[in-house]
Amino acid sequence: MTRASPEPLAEDDALTCAQVLRAAILLDGPVPISHFMAAANAHYYATRDPLGAAGDFVTAPEISQMFGEMIGLWLADLWDRAGRPACRYVELGPGRGTLAVDALRAMTAAGLAPPVHFVETSPLLAAAQADRVPGASHHAALADVPDDLPLLVVANEFFDALPIRQLVRAAGGWRERHVGMVDGLFLPTVGGPPLDAILPDALRAAAPGSIVETCPAAAAIARALGERLAARGGAAIVIDYGYAGPAVGETLQAVRGHAAANPFEAPGECDLTAHVDFATLAAAARAGGAETHGPLGQGDWLRQIGIEARAAALANRPGRTAEVVTALARLTAPDQMGALFKALALTAPGWPRPEGFA
Ligand code: SAH
Repeated sequence: MTRASPEPLAEDDALTCAQVLRAAILLDGPVPISHFMAAANAHYYATRDPLGAAGDFVTAPEISQMFGEMIGLWLADLWDRAGRPACRYVELGPGRGTLAVDALRAMTAAGLAPPVHFVETSPLLAAAQADRVPGASHHAALADVPDDLPLLVVANEFFDALPIRQLVRAAGGWRERHVGMVDGLFLPTVGGPPLDAILPDALRAAAPGSIVETCPAAAAIARALGERLAARGGAAIVIDYGYAGPAVGETLQAVRGHAAANPFEAPGECDLTAHVDFATLAAAARAGGAETHGPLGQGDWLRQIGIEARAAALANRPGRTAEVVTALARLTAPDQMGALFKALALTAPGWPRPEGFA
C-alpha cells in the first residue's frame, strides 16, 4: 500500500508562536526565560516592522536624522585619525536601515564610503534594509562578516533584544526562572539545579524573591567584537538602555502599541527587551582584546560630539525649528532618552581615543 505524502501546512494552519511554546512546555516541561524570549522575539521580528508611530515602539534613528548623522561623523573622525584605512561598516540589528542611511550620508561627506554589512535575523526587516541601502550584504551573525579589514560597528537597541536568563532567589537558594503553563496561561516558575555558585559574591545574599538577569548571548557577541577589533582594527559604538551592572532587579519588559504589556501574555506579538548590563558587556569586549570607553549617558555623549551644532543648522531651515528642538530634547534630555540610554565605545588597541568620552 502506498502512503499519501503528508500535506504541507497551509498558511492558515501555521502554528502561532504561543502554540509552539505551549507544545514544547507540555511535552518537556517549563522552558528557561531565555528560550521563551528567543522564540518570542524571533517570531515577532520576522513577522512585522515594529518601528514607528504605526508600530509598537520608536527608536532614536526614527526620531531624527541627527542621531545617525552624529554616529556617522563620530566614526568618520576616528577613521580619519586612524590614518583612513580600508574598512567595513557593520550594523547589528539595523531595523529599517534609517540609522545606516543617515550615518552613511554623513560618512560619505567626510570621504568615508565603506562596504556595508548588516547582521539581521528577520527576513522582513532585511528586505526593508536592502531597499534603503542597495548593495548592503546581509549576514545571520557577526561571525559571517568577512574577517579581513578593520570594522566600524554600530549597534543601537540591538543588545536589549537578545535573550536573557533570569536567576531567582528561591527558598533553598538561587535557581533559574522558567516559563510554565497553568490553566492555559504562560506563567513564570522556578526550576533547574541550584545556581548559587555562579552568582557574583555581592549579589548572592540578596533577599528571597530577588531576580538577577544575565545575557550570555550579549556577552558572547561583545567578546567576539572585542576579538575582531583587536585582530583587525576598528571601533564599535553600542547604544542601548541599561545599567552599570551586575545588579539585582528584573528589567524584562514587553511593549505593544507604545504601551507596556505583560511579557508572558502574547509571546511573539509584543517586543520583549531587557536592560543591558554595560559593565558585563564592556568586560567581555576587554576580555576579547578591545579597549572600552564609557558607558556614558546618550545625552552627554551626543552633546559632547556636537549634536547641538547640528540641531542649530537643521533648525535654521524654514518651518523646521519646532520639530528639531523637540527631537533634540527627546534624544538628549535626562528625563527622556538622554540618561537611561547609554553609549559604550570599543576601540582596537592602537586606534585613537574616540570623541565624546573624555
Ligand atoms: N537598530 C534599529 C532597530 C532596533 S530593533 C533602530 O535603532 O531602529 C532590534 C533589531 O535587531 C531588529 O532589526 C531585529 O530584527 C534585530 N534582531 C533582533 N534579534 C536579533 C539577533 N539575534 N540577531 C540579529 N538581529 C537581531
